[in-house]
Amino acid sequence: MSVPPSAAPPPSDWPETPTIAHVALPVAVPQTFDYRILPAQTVLPGSLVQVSLTGRKHVGVVTGVSTHSEIDAARLLSLETGYPQPPLPGDIRRLAAFVSDYYQSPLGLACSLAVPPLSAQPTPPKTVAEPLALTDAGREQLDIQFKQLGKRPAPAWRALWEIVQNGNAISIAQQQACSTAQKKYLRDWRAVGWLVPVRAVSAQIHTPSPLERESVPKGRERGKKHGAVLKDICPTLSSPVETTVFPPLHAEQRAAANAIEAALGSFQPFLLQGITGSGKTEVYLTLAGDIVAHGGQVLILLPEIHLTPQFLARIHTRLPGVDTALLHSSLPDGERLYHWQRAAEGRARLVLGTRLAVFTPLPNLALIIVDEEHDPSFKQQDNVRYHARDLAVWRARVRQVPIVLGSATPSLESYHHAQNDRYRHLHIRQRADPQATLPKLVLTPASHDAADHQGIAPVLWEAIGARLTRYEQSLIFINRRGFSPSLKCNACTWEAQCPHCAVRLVLHTQPLRLRCHHCGHTQRVPERCPSCGNLDLLPRGHGTQRLEAALAQAFPNARIARIDRDSTRRRHAFGSLHRQIADRQIDILIGTQMLAKGHDFPRVTLVGVLGADNALYSADFRATERLAALLHQVAGRAGRSALAGEVIVQTDFPNHPLYETLVRHDYDGFARVLLDERRAAHLPPFSALALLAAEARDDHLLNTFLRDAHQQALELDNPAVRVYPPSPAALARRAGYNRAQMVIQSHDRRTLQHFLTMWQPTLAALRTKHVRWTIDVDPLQI
Ligand code: ADP
Ligand code: ZN
Ligand code: ZN
Repeated sequence: MSVPPSAAPPPSDWPETPTIAHVALPVAVPQTFDYRILPAQTVLPGSLVQVSLTGRKHVGVVTGVSTHSEIDAARLLSLETGYPQPPLPGDIRRLAAFVSDYYQSPLGLACSLAVPPLSAQPTPPKTVAEPLALTDAGREQLDIQFKQLGKRPAPAWRALWEIVQNGNAISIAQQQACSTAQKKYLRDWRAVGWLVPVRAVSAQIHTPSPLERESVPKGRERGKKHGAVLKDICPTLSSPVETTVFPPLHAEQRAAANAIEAALGSFQPFLLQGITGSGKTEVYLTLAGDIVAHGGQVLILLPEIHLTPQFLARIHTRLPGVDTALLHSSLPDGERLYHWQRAAEGRARLVLGTRLAVFTPLPNLALIIVDEEHDPSFKQQDNVRYHARDLAVWRARVRQVPIVLGSATPSLESYHHAQNDRYRHLHIRQRADPQATLPKLVLTPASHDAADHQGIAPVLWEAIGARLTRYEQSLIFINRRGFSPSLKCNACTWEAQCPHCAVRLVLHTQPLRLRCHHCGHTQRVPERCPSCGNLDLLPRGHGTQRLEAALAQAFPNARIARIDRDSTRRRHAFGSLHRQIADRQIDILIGTQMLAKGHDFPRVTLVGVLGADNALYSADFRATERLAALLHQVAGRAGRSALAGEVIVQTDFPNHPLYETLVRHDYDGFARVLLDERRAAHLPPFSALALLAAEARDDHLLNTFLRDAHQQALELDNPAVRVYPPSPAALARRAGYNRAQMVIQSHDRRTLQHFLTMWQPTLAALRTKHVRWTIDVDPLQI
């Protein structure tokens, strides 16, 4: 065994020859475990070690050492394997300790968030994305093929050939936008050495500009001639790749970048607010380029895994050659470890990842960027319920580096901090692309004439039809998957209910089943009403599948695609749909909010939104904030090309402030209205909340637990904390468990945290064998 030696000496309070290591293990017990250190082992704070606990192997983190243990020496096991990875540095250990304290979870679980997957061998990613260019041999061979193909090559082949024949490289973004057939050509041509990574060819190859749209073709004549052909074949491959010159930042971008640059070396949070396409990413990458050139590291957090490829491609294009580590949970373990290690050793300069990346050791960290900071995906909803954006701010403070929170629709928390000058508010109001126009917004009553219109308002029908005749794309949002959210008997009151949950079953038609979206239960669709025998069972309401069917019937020639969790379950399904959309193989896109996040479809000129009003009825106090973010993102997105965009929202409440401000593209106006409401109701960000959520099969046990928990909370007798009585959860039964909750509220987070730290042990002491419970600090939903 060799626990790794490290360049860093042990801290001064570290005993010279410790014999016992205190190890945090990924188990839900609020304690560390003692292990014997063998004479040959060097153990440092943060060392990653393997140990056995009750017969199972675990990776643990050494939190301390000493020369004696409370445990009987004969029963002490010794440390097993050490790992060659560097120990977790001080700021990460502090972060884990903070997570444990703040989110009320055992230290071992908090530490495990920072432990990379050590059971794998570090493996570099298979194909490092690089721009590709044609070799001389490749040019000869493709010329021959071109002649053989009799000047009528397949469009997929031709589009690639058009790019490379002028000596241009195929950028990473272009490679990712390739169709399956084109990817196969690329693989084949690489295999025979016709295409090689740009670096290997010559210095003449040009790096593509991020502004492919505006770039000037090199061989002007040729570029023009082929440009038109290419656009028709594949719009994403259309731009001739040229010139390494990047456009200068415009005034507002420059001002933002300057402000952030001036804060380097100190803690300063910034809220960078600007609609999609205003050039925020360009600001991030400009800063990142400068920092990397000076040896610093930049951490970039994104809310969703499927946003990472686009961002990565942008980094490769904009900052070619910069060592970038990618970290998210769906990478194979070996790859994740490889990236983690390079980040931890300071070799990777840019670290791009989802929420777990906030725990990556970064010795030269100089700047943190959280893009789409408002996105609820930054909050982990199980195990340790941490919020990665909030932890990023905490970490920036500890490391004394600036942090940029970017969004078109900032969270009310961040907005409030910006108003109080705790965060510096930077705006980009001007659009990067002068051609881009904001779409026209139309509010129309939701159609209640279900038989005729399938829930789609007449204006929206017409608008979709108009897009089809103009070969433009439409995107229709409806936040319900399945065919219809309920199946009812026309004669009695029967309605299909989940036998395990307090919800209705959703009717799905592909395949035909009734399904529960909460516990996964599925059952056959009954032929007749189980209650009265009536044959007339009616689907009520609309989901994505029903909309798809209705549109397919109305527009038989349209190519329709549906994007929801059911249609994208297969790995890579989302990526290939994305490509088909970009390639204009799809006319109408139907999707849930999955579609709204960060995607950019330049040919979409119509966005329809159905069922938005549901959020207005929601018991969840954040529902309108989320809806506003979604709608403003959608409304701020269209118009990336010269095509005029239109957004049609079906609502029965056009005078609601949410819609009134939407029509004016005034997110700030709505944020202020919402903040006033929250202030009046003492809701976050004007108070801090925690939720004790409990569930049990037996209602009596559940109620007893919550009653006792409530009693104990009252006995702590803290006047600065408000303890609400227990109440049923919004979903009162799930998978056979009854669910209830209790809300704790305080005017600030520190008071609340202090209270929870006192309360938590008394909860643990209650007899709760058959009750599962968790404390959710800063819950997103109550
Ligand atoms: P955001 O991150 O706010 O959505 P991006 O940084 O992606 O915006 O910019 C949107 C588009 O405008 C991109 O194609 C980008 O290359 C381009 N762009 C950004 N800044 C400028 C600029 N200063 N001049 C010209 N084009 C720009
Ligand atoms: Zn019936
Ligand atoms: Zn269920």
